[in-house]
Amino acid sequence: MEPNQQTGVKPGSATGKKIGVLTSGGDAQGMNAALRAVARTALYAGAEPYAIYEGYQGMIDGGDGIRRFGWTDASGIFNRGGTVIGTFRSQEFMTRSGMLKAACNLVKLGIDRLVVIGGDGSLTGLDQFSQAWTSLLDELVDQGRITAEERADHPHLIYAGMVGSIDNDLVGTDMTIGVDSALHRIQSAIDAISSTAASHQRCFVVEVMGRHCGYLALASAISGGCDYVLIPEDPPADGWEDTMCDQLRKSRQAGRKDSIVIVAEGATNRAGDPISAEHVASAVTERLGEEARVTILGHVQRGGTPSAYDRWASTWLGYEATAHVLTHDDEGPGLVFGFQGEQIISVPLVKAVADTHQVPVLIAEGKYDEAMKLRGNEFHDLLQIFNQITNPPSTQSAPTAKRIGVMHAGALAPGMNTAARIAVWLGITQGYTPIGIHDGFVGLAEGKMDELTWKDVDGWAQEGGATLGTRRGVPTVEQLYAISRSLESESIAGLIVIGGWDAYATAQLIAAERSRYPGLQIPIICVPASIDNNLPGTTMAIGADAALNEVVDCVDKVKMSASASQRCFIIETMGRDCGYLALMGGFAGGAEQVYLNESGVTLDGLKDDIDWLKTSFDKRNRQLFLAVRNENANPNYTTEVLRRMFDQEGNGRYDTRTLIIGHIQQGDAPTPADRLLATRLTNVAVNRLIEQIIGADKQISCLGTTNNEVCLHDIDQAMKMADPRHQRPLEQWWLRLGDILSCVNRESSASTEAVSMGE
Ligand code: ADP
Repeated sequence: MEPNQQTGVKPGSATGKKIGVLTSGGDAQGMNAALRAVARTALYAGAEPYAIYEGYQGMIDGGDGIRRFGWTDASGIFNRGGTVIGTFRSQEFMTRSGMLKAACNLVKLGIDRLVVIGGDGSLTGLDQFSQAWTSLLDELVDQGRITAEERADHPHLIYAGMVGSIDNDLVGTDMTIGVDSALHRIQSAIDAISSTAASHQRCFVVEVMGRHCGYLALASAISGGCDYVLIPEDPPADGWEDTMCDQLRKSRQAGRKDSIVIVAEGATNRAGDPISAEHVASAVTERLGEEARVTILGHVQRGGTPSAYDRWASTWLGYEATAHVLTHDDEGPGLVFGFQGEQIISVPLVKAVADTHQVPVLIAEGKYDEAMKLRGNEFHDLLQIFNQITNPPSTQSAPTAKRIGVMHAGALAPGMNTAARIAVWLGITQGYTPIGIHDGFVGLAEGKMDELTWKDVDGWAQEGGATLGTRRGVPTVEQLYAISRSLESESIAGLIVIGGWDAYATAQLIAAERSRYPGLQIPIICVPASIDNNLPGTTMAIGADAALNEVVDCVDKVKMSASASQRCFIIETMGRDCGYLALMGGFAGGAEQVYLNESGVTLDGLKDDIDWLKTSFDKRNRQLFLAVRNENANPNYTTEVLRRMFDQEGNGRYDTRTLIIGHIQQGDAPTPADRLLATRLTNVAVNRLIEQIIGADKQISCLGTTNNEVCLHDIDQAMKMADPRHQRPLEQWWLRLGDILSCVNRESSASTEAVSMGE
């Protein structure tokens, strides 16, 4: 598995090349975003993109099954679920004669580059096709269906795959296209079920998709705060019905009002017999004497608008896969493009597919650990955490137990409650007493704290906001005295601070000053939570994904509102000096321009934008221009100043409107990604804190993720990775998406010329 060296495409670099794109197998949200990115990247590079309709069948049928796909064909599809070019399970493609027809149609059109978006079946088909390419073309020459020259012009099939599958079952990549959106659908269903279940003290059994892979089930069981999960990779031992019901009983005794069991559709027992949701429900009814209701979520998981992640990740993948296919002329190993955390990786297709097929074999052979290993570290961590938090101890910790403080600091971020709940539960399961500190460091200085029980935090998994309260600001050196006194008098042995920049700055201040304060001689761990995503040592902070989804949702609505008139819209996001929300919101929302503090705003740049805008309204019948501006992009070129400039220069071509999104970016419930991140990070925070308490290690540190691995940094080291004036990391991985945004969101003259070529 190699980190992908950003290939990059230049205008005109692929002139004369023809590339086909198809979607195959089960559909997934985000396939349209990937298709759009493939087509527009190709146009940008001067290549000719062709859409192949109805999967491999379109390739076999030829004619209208393979059509030129221009810039505007890719317009308005970004926020649609499914795939606008259709998908199909073509049996004919699995035969030699089907492949012969497909190869013949491609060669006749001059296409020898392919990008396929599909599941492991579709990618296996792609590999078989490419391996057979030479012999297929030889046979076509022998049969007189293509000429020797045509054969010589297309010596290889150059291809790349992207995994479109809500199951997240391809070994080697962390997230496949559609998984995040499916988790959104499942989570909103579980959140809804949870509120009715809690009102009636009921048990619900929810079946989610996943024939061989339990990722959706496990991830949604954690993010939904559920009680039991059945997944194919970890079949339960005989007598599991009793174990499950004992566990549900224990959770109720610990204070849970409802019970929710998640069953993956492919769950089995160790003998390989399927476990149905109905069977689970009757086991609960028999043993606990309460009625259990079954909900089978089915195809709603595949439907609906793609999440922000599925839009930006699929767009980036589409760009990289296309860049690879257009910049390579020799036959190399076919690659699948995917993600490891926030880094694009490419994996040899054959190996990825072989490893994926190995998982059910290992499960059938009873080698569950090995099967789990292939699913990766995150999967393994999540299962271990889930097993721990769903096993509450029968009593609260002993009065003599060491006390761990849990608090927030800095601005509010969705997911703070999720993280606090996990800290409390994991602390209790390990025999510690969790103390909730209210209202940040101000509350800590005033001694506002009390013990939290299992039951107190039960409902916090789904809730936005921060029930413990949080405060902005860094305490003065004088206030440290009161903070130290509080920690000392309450015998706090270690502190978990879930928060943003102010939490980090306070931790750094404590590290510098604590030699004078006995109460501050304790281990402290910061868990990153900030909608701005501006913290050093982590690629993602808790809450940033919820805020981004809110921005993208607003962009969708603005686009809809402008669909009946000619408009120029400037949307302003939060973020202070960090442009994450503006750039990613613009990228995932399809904006033509973003204005960031990082890249600055200049008069020359604005003039270029206005010139482009006028031309595209005059010559290309544009209806909407959308720009996203970070709130601190520039102190003088404010959103209002931009509005006036654009309006003046537009000279009646369009109306210019603004939308300042404001605090709703902080107010939503945490997304599944936020909840999973909060769970993984807080788990490491609690384990590390306890290790430090036992070992009398007083290091002050912060946590983060890099390439989907959790990592710990000393607070001073972490702050050296940040720019204190702008309060943001020195390295921001997402900035590189700015170039891709210009390529796929903003029609250039190069793209337009490529469209009109040959038409
Ligand atoms: P998914 O891609 O979602 O795993 P399938 O396994 O149904 O879905 O595969 C989708 C399509 O890919 C099949 O209908 C067929 O057209 C093609 N395909 C799958 N496996 C092969 C194969 N071994 N050889 C050729 N084509 C294949």
